[in-house]
Amino acid sequence: MFLGESLLKISSIASLTNFLSLVLQPRPVDPPGIFETPISNTYDYIVVGAGSAGSIVATRLSEDCANVLLLEAGGTDLDDERTQIPLMWFFLQGTAMDWGYWTVPQKFSHRAMKNERSYWARGKMIGGSSAMNAMGFVRGSRFDFEQWEREGATGWGYDKVLPYFKKLENAKLTDYGNCGNFILYLETRGKFGPIVVNQESATPLSFFHLKAAAEMNLPVIDCSDQNPRGICVTQSNIKNGTRCNSGNCYLRPALERQNLQILFRKNKAVGVEFVKDNKTIRVFAKKEVILSAGVIGSAQILLLSGIGPTEHLRQMNINVKSNLPVGKNMQDHLDFFLKYNINMSLNTNSENFATPRRILNFVFNKKGIFTGSGGDVNVFTHTCRKMNEGPNIQLTIIPTAYEKDAVEDLFLNLKNEVVKEHLKRVNSNSFQVILYILKPKSIRFTRRLEKTSAWKSINATYIRHDTPNHCSEIEYDSDDYWECMLRHFTRRGDHQMGTCRMGSVNDPSSVVDPRLRLVHYLEQIQE
Ligand SMILES: Cc1cc2nc3c(=O)[nH]c(=O)nc-3n(C[C@H](O)[C@H](O)[C@H](O)COP(=O)(O)OP(=O)(O)OC[C@H]3O[C@@H](n4cnc5c(N)ncnc54)[C@H](O)[C@@H]3O)c2cc1C
Repeated sequence: MFLGESLLKISSIASLTNFLSLVLQPRPVDPPGIFETPISNTYDYIVVGAGSAGSIVATRLSEDCANVLLLEAGGTDLDDERTQIPLMWFFLQGTAMDWGYWTVPQKFSHRAMKNERSYWARGKMIGGSSAMNAMGFVRGSRFDFEQWEREGATGWGYDKVLPYFKKLENAKLTDYGNCGNFILYLETRGKFGPIVVNQESATPLSFFHLKAAAEMNLPVIDCSDQNPRGICVTQSNIKNGTRCNSGNCYLRPALERQNLQILFRKNKAVGVEFVKDNKTIRVFAKKEVILSAGVIGSAQILLLSGIGPTEHLRQMNINVKSNLPVGKNMQDHLDFFLKYNINMSLNTNSENFATPRRILNFVFNKKGIFTGSGGDVNVFTHTCRKMNEGPNIQLTIIPTAYEKDAVEDLFLNLKNEVVKEHLKRVNSNSFQVILYILKPKSIRFTRRLEKTSAWKSINATYIRHDTPNHCSEIEYDSDDYWECMLRHFTRRGDHQMGTCRMGSVNDPSSVVDPRLRLVHYLEQIQE
């Protein structure tokens, strides 16, 4: 009775979260006192930031009996139910577990966004961004790794990192080339690592995308193929229906070790002096201090420590210790959303998202839409590129309708008049294609999908999203039109990286050498 009544009352994400926290088995908690071990003066290694990288580094170092201190500015991810329910990843943005950054207003892009800027989510908790991201698992192409090695990242070529990729994962893949009837065991994928990789599409719409890709001669592939060109059903870090982040799947099993200690909450860790319970504490590393505070956090700590571009540090009144190009190489895959109306209800929308059936399937069977990231398929392709150069476009096709709650969200930050106009054009059956702009020369490839008979069979109709003052005055479909659309509508792609670039010590754009040591530190050693 209680269950039925509560289910009927679910009308919003907040009520759904409340409901789930009532009926789900008590979520895991960390053993009492595990974070309260007294702080020592000296450790072998001090790792700053318990995110994707830091949790793994600290766990692996502690396997070798070294004493490791892991410092984290955020709290525990277990405080919020939504970090554990895969489909809820989207709703962690803007919470206390997110650093909540905004870009500065952009001069040449973001013209359809409020104040011409993007919201940048970054995890602030154990697991870092891996505790709030979309869980999509893609290794990247061989050609990028080879290029980085050629540019000076010695030892980071594809064949050298492949054993570590395999060591990391436990891949449970299905052969969608054979209609999903077989389990795939690939030589190139790991089977015994802590990060579980599952493969599942969110809705039956993926059937039409797989068919459309076949018509375009795009084969069904492994998303983590060394040279991906084709379509793959989304692979995600999900274990038994729950998010598998670096906190849950690496760090927590290692916390029982006496030689690994984690301190979390409170900020400011400077090489390392940190503040905990209003006390400034200094701890020393016998071997190394490892900075793994993320694309923004690591750069920020270096800058505050006087390591960065001289001119910028002087402007900020920071004593310059080393002139290094910290922050200069920042990169992201900007993304651009294409939207399609279709003529049948195969998608997810606010009406069908939290049906009692879906919720019960999750609560009792840990199955169904809530146990996935919400994505259907990914397409990788080489437009205007040779096959041996790696893909330059990624499409992530999501079955989510373009509707009020989503478009008014921080996530998109579109201007009100643009949102109003868009909402007039979509129906509740719409789905979306996220075009990740990797290194393309053209974006027109995406629209070839519309010509396939598979997409025609569901009447997939492109929804124009130019609006008055936002490209509608330019000749539709001309090159100028698409340039304008990109300048107005592309936004953050959540793949920010590169602020502490690794490369040769002789390359002025390097911040760290191929062994991840600060370049200025090497100069001092050589003196
Ligand atoms: C919304 C979103 C969706 C994404 N989707 C995907 C996806 O589907 N697939 C994918 O592969 N990638 C995705 N990413 C990107 C991916 O999550 C990140 O690239 C990755 O987690 C970065 O790992 P990291 O270790 O460098 O940093 P993080 O995981 O961000 O960890 C940095 C840690 O350092 C801590 N920290 C920062 N400053 C300090 C300080 N001063 N003192 C102590 N601690 C500090 C932070 O709190 C954080 O815990 C997504 C990211 C976001 C935000």
